[in-house]
Amino acid sequence: MIQVTASEGLLVYLAVMGVALGAAVIWDGWRSRRQHWQVSEDRLMRCPRCSCTFIVVRTVREANCPRCGVQQMVGKRGGRGRV
Ligand SMILES: [Zn+2]
Repeated sequence: MIQVTASEGLLVYLAVMGVALGAAVIWDGWRSRRQHWQVSEDRLMRCPRCSCTFIVVRTVREANCPRCGVQQMVGKRGGRGRV
């Protein structure tokens, strides 16, 4: 069996936690870069009833206001409800 002193154990523990922290930072950076808003692919909409402003995916034809639930058509450029 391997004999480990308290200081060696603490050193191994700190090394493992440092590697885990580094991996979490790298993963979070990769994730946030991947989910970055792409304004050219999304549309900014404003609800005519409550003036809530929200983002919808360009490919969606109809969107519900997240605040009051009013359904809106995501039309062509300058369509109803578009900001
Ligand atoms: Zn609304």
